Amino acid sequence: MEPRYLDPKTLPPTRKVERTHEPRGGSYTAFRQCLRWEFGFQCAFCLIHERDLDPYGTERAGLFGIEHFVPQKHDPELRNEYSNCFYACRFCNGARGYKPVVDSQERHLLHPCANQWSAHFALRSYELVPLDSDQDAEYTRDAYDINAPNKVTRRRVRRQEWKRVRGLIDDVSTQYATALRSLSVPERRTEARATITQLLRYHRDAVTGMRRFSSVPDDAASRCNCRDAAAERNSVRPGHLDYRLEPGNLRPSDGARLFRLGLQGASRIGLVVGMSVHTRARLELLDVTVRELGETPAITIVCPYSLGQPAPDLDGISGVVAGSDWPHPLPIDAVGEEALVSELVHWAHSCGIDTMVLCEPVCGIARKDIAAELELELDGALRILELPTER
Ligand SMILES: [Zn+2]
Ligand SMILES: [Zn+2]
Repeated sequence: MEPRYLDPKTLPPTRKVERTHEPRGGSYTAFRQCLRWEFGFQCAFCLIHERDLDPYGTERAGLFGIEHFVPQKHDPELRNEYSNCFYACRFCNGARGYKPVVDSQERHLLHPCANQWSAHFALRSYELVPLDSDQDAEYTRDAYDINAPNKVTRRRVRRQEWKRVRGLIDDVSTQYATALRSLSVPERRTEARATITQLLRYHRDAVTGMRRFSSVPDDAASRCNCRDAAAERNSVRPGHLDYRLEPGNLRPSDGARLFRLGLQGASRIGLVVGMSVHTRARLELLDVTVRELGETPAITIVCPYSLGQPAPDLDGISGVVAGSDWPHPLPIDAVGEEALVSELVHWAHSCGIDTMVLCEPVCGIARKDIAAELELELDGALRILELPTER
């Protein structure tokens, strides 16, 4: 699924929230997961998103809570009434306290399910400013302290960080195109290969950086407390967050394309394979890709599980050094990320590899974890690619 990102601007929603969840009765605390999905993981009042407060997850950190529109103190009957409960950040929750729904000047608090925020507020310099001296919006702003300095800062930081990371992706895409053209000029090829290696690293960093803006937090519960557990209920609410990223030439989801581009600059490829039933199919896929490139690079292979185990069938895979020539088989008990990575680094250096292709998980360690460790160890001296699962 294409990742969805937060809008870089914390714009007031153009729709009111229409509730779709119907949690089972009981205490209001059991509504929590329903409310998170219902309100798009953001505060119904100040629009700060969970990612704004902690990109790595806010659950159990006390940063978001359940706000009773009619305070429990004013009407205990409504305490466990779902329609009276809203998802709110702790700052809004704390700022309002027991302020009444209608104040002494007859001003009403705006209700996120009855009022469309964009009809009452505009975003100006990261503040939600009431439109046309809207009395209810002013009361809502003041009651929840919607423009408290910490909230304004979060809105600004999201936009700035978003632009910075997104800008990096665009820059990388442009430079990548230039570097690829240089590959066809023999005297510029070495330099272009080094540039491509660097750019792939920047791209990986930038894509990882963008993850902090994906609109569904990593700690989002897939199940809520609804009577019938329809999965489609759990989708980010419309009008809040629906930004599609279009990062030019290199798209985070475009694994196959990125892989193909990465291989173009390679002169000696090292394959890291496991011993799964899929190994053969994966290598065939790589073989086709390599052949398509025309200029066949030398391929060497390491299979960390190879000692005392049958080798995967590699007949017909172009350029592979196979069987007993495998340079550095790991003993099976040398598992563990650290041992594996240090062996791979040693192997890469001794074989003069410039591009390492991770074909599948090894010793139960996921490829992205191996890749991240290798990046740290090698500090860009080697291009690291993950073999895509399809062409
Ligand atoms: Zn629910
Ligand atoms: Zn808030």
